[in-house]
Formats: sequence, C-alpha cells, structure tokens
Amino acid sequence: MPIKGLTDDVKPRYPRLGKLRKGAEMKEGGPGKDLEYFRFTSDDPRIEEAFAKRYGDKPASLLVFLPHTTAEEAFSTWCEVWGSSGLIHRCDGENMTVWLEGNKYVMGNKPCDASQHTDGDPLNDAVGRLDLILPELLQEGFVGYVTITTHSKHDILNISSLLAQVEQASKSGIGLRGIPFILSRVETQVSTPGFGKTAGKRTRSTKWLLNLAPVSDWVKASMEQMQKDALMLQEPLPVSIEEDTTLPEVVPSVVEEESTVEEESTVEEESTVEEESNNREMVTLEAMEEWRKLCTQATKLGISAPRFSGTKLKAMTLEDLREEYAKLKNIVNKEKGNNK
Ligand SMILES: [Zn+2]
Repeated sequence: MPIKGLTDDVKPRYPRLGKLRKGAEMKEGGPGKDLEYFRFTSDDPRIEEAFAKRYGDKPASLLVFLPHTTAEEAFSTWCEVWGSSGLIHRCDGENMTVWLEGNKYVMGNKPCDASQHTDGDPLNDAVGRLDLILPELLQEGFVGYVTITTHSKHDILNISSLLAQVEQASKSGIGLRGIPFILSRVETQVSTPGFGKTAGKRTRSTKWLLNLAPVSDWVKASMEQMQKDALMLQEPLPVSIEEDTTLPEVVPSVVEEESTVEEESTVEEESTVEEESNNREMVTLEAMEEWRKLCTQATKLGISAPRFSGTKLKAMTLEDLREEYAKLKNIVNKEKGNNK
C-alpha cells in the first residue's frame, strides 16, 4: 500500500548505470575530440568492466532498447545555458522551464532570456538526451539505463523524426518499448543548401553523427502488419495516411536527401506524386535559424512576424518556409527603405 506523501507519487524509474559519450575526455576545459566509436563511463568501475568485456574498447554500433513508450519521453530535447557552476537556464527556444534566480532554481514558465545563449540564439545551445537499455549489461546483472547526450543539431533532428515515425508505426500501448534498435556512429558529409544570405550556395563538412534505426526484422514485421491492416480496410488508404506510415529507413540520411533533391530539381518536377511526397524537402536547421534571424530583424523594426514554433517549423516544407521568408523579407526591406 503506498504511503501518503512518501511512496504514493513514485514513478517507475531504474537507476542510471552510466553514460555513452560521442567524444574523448575534455582537454583543459575544452570539448574532447569527436570519436568514431562510443566511449562508456560509469561511477561504478564494475559496470565499466562489464561494458568493456561485452562490447570491447571501441564499439561503433550497439543493439539497444528504449525504456520509454513515446518519442518525447525517450528523447528529451532542450536548449540549455550552462555556466561554471551549473545550469543557468533551460528552455524550448521560446519559454524557460527552469532558471537560476540569485542562487536558487525556479521552475515555471517565463520567456527565454535569449541574451544568455551563445550568439543570442537558443538553437546554438540545443541538447538531446536519449535513455537506452543495453541488453548485454542486463545479462551481466546490471539493471538500469544508460544515457547518451548529443549537442549536434543534425543528431537531434534525425533522432527526433525517426522516433516520431517509429512511434506512429508501432502498436499503441507498447509504443517504442520492446523494439530493438541499432545505435551506431556514422561518418556523414553534412551538406546543407544555403538559405537567406547564402541562398544558392552549399556548405560541406565531415562529422561523426549518431544513427538510430530499428533492426530490419522489426521493420519487416511492422510492414507486414501494415499490409494486413491495409487489407482489412475496404477502400484505399488516403494519401495522407500513406505518408504518415512511411517507414523510417529514409530518415538517417536526411542530410544527403536534401542535397539530391536540390541538385536534381529538374527531375523532381517530372516525378510522380508519390515520389514527390517521398522527396519532400524538410526544413533544415540552417533554414530555421535564418528564419528566426529574419523574425528578430522584423521585430526590431516593429513588424509583427508570424510565429512558428520549432515543431511547426519542422512540419513545414522548405518550399513553404521559403515563401514565408520571401514575404517577410519584402516587408522588412520596404520598412528599411522607409526609415532611410
Ligand atoms: Zn533560452
């Protein structure tokens, strides 16, 4: 029987066994070098030993399960400002949920103080945390979960959209739990189409990103289930549902997809409706940043810019956003002309 005020509000929670890290140890306060594999650390040396025994020194790919049902629980994403003594504020890019007042933390809801962020932009301080269950550690007798933290915007966007799609395709109730995933490191050429000032140009760099994907058996089983579900329906599925249930295989290569679409824009025009929906250009983080910058500019000029939340922006197509951008840019330029 739960005791009032003591155990009546206890949520099921396993202990954290340790952390998986993408980079080497910090050097003189600076971030460590990006690694091609996962580094595991724990406060308990026995767990570190068990990890090394089962996975070796430099595992680049791990079989994992997620301890949560929904994408939102499984992968928590925030914009966080940290100082030498700890967290200064945590927000969603617009509103803070935790902030430091004097030497006390306040929890609530208050507009983000963007001046505290790197270059005044919350997106520069984005962080994602994914809780995982490593079955091999369980087999070694350690019950609990392991957390991996990423500050890469590409990781954050890729993992969020993959989990949202898998959650949608999974059976309700069980959600993401029980689905085997492979978490691996992948060397990726990050190429992004320019936007705003750099429209028409491209930037490229090499990064070791995270790749999370359900193991193919699960994808196959889920497709078979979807086929059965589709057969049960008397009429064809509407297009929107087909789009929603697209399986996540295409997601990890979001970055590359953008470049193909961009470079083959003439081909895209001739493609069928179905292909177009698959090649739909997603709003890139760079585009989101440019959009936010333009909105800040507009607000300074006293123009009320349409407000899109991060989630809404992600759901828009790049084409939609370009249109909105061009409209607002026009108004901003006119206003600037009037001020001269
Ligand atoms: Zn903030």
